[in-house]
Amino acid sequence: MENFTKPFTRQEAIPEAGIDRAVEIMRSGKLHRYNTEAGETAEAALLEKEFAEYLGVPYCLACASGGYALHVALKAAGLQPGEKVLTNAFTLAPVPGAINNAGGVPLLVEIDRNYCVDLVHLESLMQSEAPRYFMISHMRGHLADMEAVTTLCEQYKVVLIEDCAHTMGASWNGKASGTFGSIACFSTQTYKHINSGEGGFLTTTDAEIMARAIMHSGSYMLYERHGAAPDKDTFKDIRLDTPNYSGRMDNLRAAILRAQLPLLKDNCERWNELYRAAETGLQKINSIELSERPSLEYYVGSSIQFRPSSLTTPAQVQDFVTRCMKRGVELKWFGSEDPQGFTSRYDSWRYLGEAPTLPNTLDVLSNTLDMRLPLTFDTADIKVICDIIASELLNTD
Ligand SMILES: *Cc1c(COP(=O)(O)O)cnc(C)c1O
Repeated sequence: MENFTKPFTRQEAIPEAGIDRAVEIMRSGKLHRYNTEAGETAEAALLEKEFAEYLGVPYCLACASGGYALHVALKAAGLQPGEKVLTNAFTLAPVPGAINNAGGVPLLVEIDRNYCVDLVHLESLMQSEAPRYFMISHMRGHLADMEAVTTLCEQYKVVLIEDCAHTMGASWNGKASGTFGSIACFSTQTYKHINSGEGGFLTTTDAEIMARAIMHSGSYMLYERHGAAPDKDTFKDIRLDTPNYSGRMDNLRAAILRAQLPLLKDNCERWNELYRAAETGLQKINSIELSERPSLEYYVGSSIQFRPSSLTTPAQVQDFVTRCMKRGVELKWFGSEDPQGFTSRYDSWRYLGEAPTLPNTLDVLSNTLDMRLPLTFDTADIKVICDIIASELLNTD
């Protein structure tokens, strides 16, 4: 039987228009976002305006990474040292890292079998711990019932911050992911939905939060050169009260992102075509459990998660992952005790102190496998991949 040979980490090329513009900027030497001449608007400011319009919000800050946006979001929202911040126990390491960096302490919430926060556990923590912040991570693009989440946040007076690293382009009941909380953070790192190597956005409808975020990002007193910022009166006091945590986006990255933004909607559909092909292929394998996708969720299927119920021990899961890899199919196991590559289980974030016992999360992750679906694949590739997964599962002893 054939092996699969395409790399799971290969992204599509940057559109030619973006490359041309980036070269122009390099020829001009004006890479820094504030390096403009009279009457000129920097690429980074244009990108902020365009992303704000795309999302339908008034304010957007382009910054150095998604993790940086999460950090600044907490600072701009007024997090005090030592304060607890609710967040999903299943997320990527930059999320608890950003909370730690902002001086907060993550308060981990259980997930359900669809990889979303468990709303019952969430409410019980809101009651018992009275936290002021919830950084919800839409991990792997799974959106929780966002109406229920926002209702709980309102009831317990919790500020909601959305980590939309995997949901750029997604929506819940017709409302864009990133417009439910007080602040949303996006990543433009290579493996996300638009690619500038590193980069991120912070968006909000709150003028004061945005003024603080802009000052934090390292705007010096040049905040008027931002593309989707509040008017200068909003900065009057804030500019003197807000430390500079230098983390701006440069014009080169902005140029290549501007060229990708118009393609995002179509690309989301292309991801979903791959996702549906993978879902159909994996559904045919009896022992595989897939998550349910609620009808109110419009997801962007840039990755798929599945649980083979026939793999019941860590050794069996590890062996299966290794055999798939030998045949060119790269799966990630989020349940591994030992963090590998981009994955890490919550109890390996040792800097948090003693890890809470979250039996549901551990149970779900124990055999959760994750597969990237890059746009350099087509549906024929997905068929080959699913056949390999099926045959290797049959080989499990
Ligand atoms: C990638 C990612 C981030 C952080 O993005 P960076 O731009 O890499 O800092 C945050 N949350 C999740 C879930 C991610 O996958």
